[in-house]
Amino acid sequence: MTSETTTPVRPARRRRGEGQWALGYREPLNPNEQSKKDDNPLNVRARIENVYAHGGFDSIDPGDLRGRFRWWGLYTQRKPGIDGGKTATLEPEELDDRYFMLRVRIDGGQLDVAQLRAVGELSTQYARDTADMTDRQNVQYHWIDVKDMPAIWERLEGVGLHTQEACGDCPRIVMGSPVAGIAEDEIIDGTEVIERITHDYIGDKDLSNLPRKFKTAISGHPSHDVVPQINDVAFVGVVHPEHGPGWDVWVGGGLSTNPMLAQRLGVWVSSDEAPEVWAGICRVFRDYGYRRLRSRARIKFLVKDWGAEKFREVLETEYLGRTLADGPAPELPDEPGDHVGVHRQKDGRYYLGLAPVVGRVSGTQLSQLADVAEKYGSDRIRTTAHQNLVLLDIREEDVESAVADLDAIGLQARPSRWRQHTMACTGIEYCKLAIVNTKDRARDLIDELEQRVPELDTPITVNVNGCPNSCARIQTADIGLKGQLVLDENGEQVEGFQVHLGGALGLEAGFGRKLRAHKVTGAELPDYVEKLSRTYLEQREDGESFAR
Ligand code: SF4
Repeated sequence: MTSETTTPVRPARRRRGEGQWALGYREPLNPNEQSKKDDNPLNVRARIENVYAHGGFDSIDPGDLRGRFRWWGLYTQRKPGIDGGKTATLEPEELDDRYFMLRVRIDGGQLDVAQLRAVGELSTQYARDTADMTDRQNVQYHWIDVKDMPAIWERLEGVGLHTQEACGDCPRIVMGSPVAGIAEDEIIDGTEVIERITHDYIGDKDLSNLPRKFKTAISGHPSHDVVPQINDVAFVGVVHPEHGPGWDVWVGGGLSTNPMLAQRLGVWVSSDEAPEVWAGICRVFRDYGYRRLRSRARIKFLVKDWGAEKFREVLETEYLGRTLADGPAPELPDEPGDHVGVHRQKDGRYYLGLAPVVGRVSGTQLSQLADVAEKYGSDRIRTTAHQNLVLLDIREEDVESAVADLDAIGLQARPSRWRQHTMACTGIEYCKLAIVNTKDRARDLIDELEQRVPELDTPITVNVNGCPNSCARIQTADIGLKGQLVLDENGEQVEGFQVHLGGALGLEAGFGRKLRAHKVTGAELPDYVEKLSRTYLEQREDGESFAR
């Protein structure tokens, strides 16, 4: 007798597609993909100008409001008065204010005085005097009414600035060294590469529907002053033994909830080749990037799965049609440069790196900065990757007087270590994802620490974030603070932070460790940071930094 029992054969498990266009998955797999397919988000500009600017907030189509508006730099800001405990429980529309955050791109961080004046005047005229310097060299306004957008664009575009693709699933601002073309120790000037990329590709509908945001950093300064290790793509200045100065290309860096450092492709490209290579990488991402889950859609996940070797091979064979030269790795700096302070330029003049408090300035201050620039004959201002500003081209004999004038408008060229090295994201005042207040908390922390630990003689970076998204780079700070609700001594839920310690970029790059026991309430924060910094100052050995 033979047994008829058989093991049921399971159908082969089909690997669920990740929504990669190049593999034939063209059907949208989530509402964001559907929205982008329904209408190219860049088209929303015409509706804003022709319809919404006249009809006001209530006339805005919800699909445009919470999706396509971003491609023109617009996000609804958080309705005032909603506490952080409600962030995760309310529907998006319940958090929406009737006003917007507007992000202005400043590619390469480069402004002339006329542009700075326009940015300042728009703030006072339309944004209740708000203007935050972001850690990606943008300026962000708040309190923008959609009715004012045509006038705002006209003023910005009249001086060569714009908001196109400042947010959204597209190529964001191209960051550039704030001291490009003027630093004595520069390896190569990236200004022309940035201009060609922004001119040729920003606003190109062929590259305006990417799986997620695409962040670019280009710097030929040896201090890696635009944090290339945590960008989606970075061009880093390097000298090739045969070809001379050019660019080492990195892909796949990023923070947020799955932080990863960028990987080198191992190629060397000239400035002439760089824009084409940049566009090729963007297209690899467009076609092979994962579009099923937003949480896995950044290019870093593709790079992690493929590895740099395969990524390079696909780029060369399918997108460039040629092989790129192999190249050497650049030297890594001890830490990314922030350019704060007084520094000599290669032409003998000086640049002044200025630290506002956690990037918070006002339109009034920016107009005053324009006055100071004009007074000293400068027509060049830069924004930085550290929420700071740099004023270029100051004559040696004017340095001290200019420093004093800048100090008088709240822009310090010789700030305390605490002020210099503390950053904060937007936080609960305006951000719909925030759980805690960040800017005010960070400002108060700086004030306290300047009193309590004035002797700090070495950088300790403190990055304050309002939620796990890491817009202010939680994981790469010496002390990274991630906003969340914590229990106070009475068992009440209050604003507080999960602490990450020991993060760094540069030579000893690594992500800070999350210490489960280290959760502090907002009120405890000054005591906590004071204790940590004192312990470090007392116990450090020669040359030992806080992080390592
Ligand atoms: Fe908003 Fe969170 Fe980003 Fe801060 S880190 S700006 S709270 S999304």
